[in-house]
Amino acid sequence: MMTKEQLKSQVCAAIAARKNDIKQLAENIWREPELGFKETKTAQKVEQAFDALGVPYRNKLALTGVKGRLKGGKASKRTIAVIGELDAILCAEHPDADDQTGAAHCCGHNAQIANMMAVTMGLIDSGAMAYLAGDVVPFAVPAEEYVELAYRNKLIEQGKISFIGGKPELISRGEFDDIDMALQIHLTSVKPERDNGFIEISTTTNGFVGKLINYKGKPSHAAAAPHLGVNALNAAMMGIMGVNAIRETFQEKDYVRFHPIITQGGDLVNVTPSDVRLESYVRASNVPAMIDANERITRALVAGAMAVGADVEVKDLPGYLPLYNNSSLNNLLQQNAEHLIGEENVWVAKHMTGSTDTGDLSHIMPVSHPWIGSIRGGLHGKDYTVFDEDMAYIRPAQMMAMTIIDLLFDDAQPAEELLANYQPLMSKDEYLAFINSFKNAS
Ligand SMILES: [Zn+2]
Repeated sequence: MMTKEQLKSQVCAAIAARKNDIKQLAENIWREPELGFKETKTAQKVEQAFDALGVPYRNKLALTGVKGRLKGGKASKRTIAVIGELDAILCAEHPDADDQTGAAHCCGHNAQIANMMAVTMGLIDSGAMAYLAGDVVPFAVPAEEYVELAYRNKLIEQGKISFIGGKPELISRGEFDDIDMALQIHLTSVKPERDNGFIEISTTTNGFVGKLINYKGKPSHAAAAPHLGVNALNAAMMGIMGVNAIRETFQEKDYVRFHPIITQGGDLVNVTPSDVRLESYVRASNVPAMIDANERITRALVAGAMAVGADVEVKDLPGYLPLYNNSSLNNLLQQNAEHLIGEENVWVAKHMTGSTDTGDLSHIMPVSHPWIGSIRGGLHGKDYTVFDEDMAYIRPAQMMAMTIIDLLFDDAQPAEELLANYQPLMSKDEYLAFINSFKNAS
C-alpha cells in the first residue's frame, strides 16, 4: 500500500529525473521573451509541452492563457491550480533582451512556467494522480506586469480585454471558477555574500490604484505674454508638492507609496505648457488605506490645478489588490521546503511594498506565492542571472508537488479542512464590483 510519504518521494524523484527537459523549457522561453497579452510563442511552447505529456488543455484564454487539467484518480472534488506567468518585462539593457522589443525575462516568469510544467511532469511520470482525490490545473496566465498601459487601453477599447492585468481578466471571464486554491512561485535575488539559494514564504504585499493625470492649461507666448496663458506644468508641480505636503499623514503601518513620473511636460520651450501628463500608482498594504490615500492624493493633485487656474483630469485605473497569502498553504509549503533544502534555508518574509495581480486572486481563494532565492543581480535589472538552477527550476516544483499531495492524498481531508475554515475576503461578484469602481474619471 502506498503511503503519502512514499508518493511524495516518488514525485520528487520523477521531477529530478526531468531536470534537462525542465531546464530546456526555461531557457527556451528565456530566449524569446514576450510582453503581456502578446505571449503567443511562449503559449505555444506550453501547448507543445502539454501535448508531449498528453495533458488536455484549453488555450487563448484572455488572449494567450493556457489551462491544462490532470484528473485525480479518486472521487475528484477539489482542484488546485499551479500558476505560471507567461510575460516578460522591458529591460533593453540586459544582454539577452529581444533586439526588436527590448523585452527580457528579468522577472523570472520563465522559471514559473518551467516549475508549473515540472509539477505536471512529476505527477504524470510517477502516476501520482491515481492516488489523489482532486484535480490539478497547471495554468499558464498572461500579463502579470502592469505595463504598456496605452497598448492595453487600446485592447480594452477594442473589446479584446476588460482589465490591464491577466489575472483580473481571467477571473472576470470565469476561468478561476473551477479552481479552489492556487500555488505559484516567484524568483528573487540572493545577496552576493550568500553562496546558496533559499525559499522565503510570503506573507503580504502592497496593492495599488493606477493613476493617469492630465493638466490642461492655455498656451501663450512664454516670454511675451505669459499673463495670457495658464501654465499646466506649474499646476502639475503644485499638485506633486501638494501630495508631498500630506505625506506626513500617511501611517507607517500602511506602507503608502506614490511615485509619479511626468510623461509629457510641455511642447515647446517658448510656449506656456498647456498639456502636461503624469502617471503613477498609489500603493498601500490594505484596501482601506489604498482608497483613503488615493482620495487624498487626488484632492492634492486637483488643488495644483486650482492654484494656477488650470483644468485637470485624474483617471483612476483598477490596479492590483494587496496579496494575502493563506497561512495553511504557507505552512505546508514551508514544511516541505524545509524537508527539501533544510530549515536554515527557509524563512518567512515580512511585508513587501511591490505588487502582483496574484493579490487579486488571494481575495477570492486561498493562495500561496513564495519567493525563491536563486538569482544574482536585481529583479527587472540588467544584471539579472540565474545562479542556482536546482533552486530556480527543481526545488519549487518539488515543494509544490509535495504540498498538492499533502492536500489531496487519499480523501483530500486536508484540502477540505482548509476550505471549511477559509473565509474569502471578497466573493467574486464583490471583487468585480470593487475593481470596476475604479474605472471612473474625476
Ligand atoms: Zn514578476
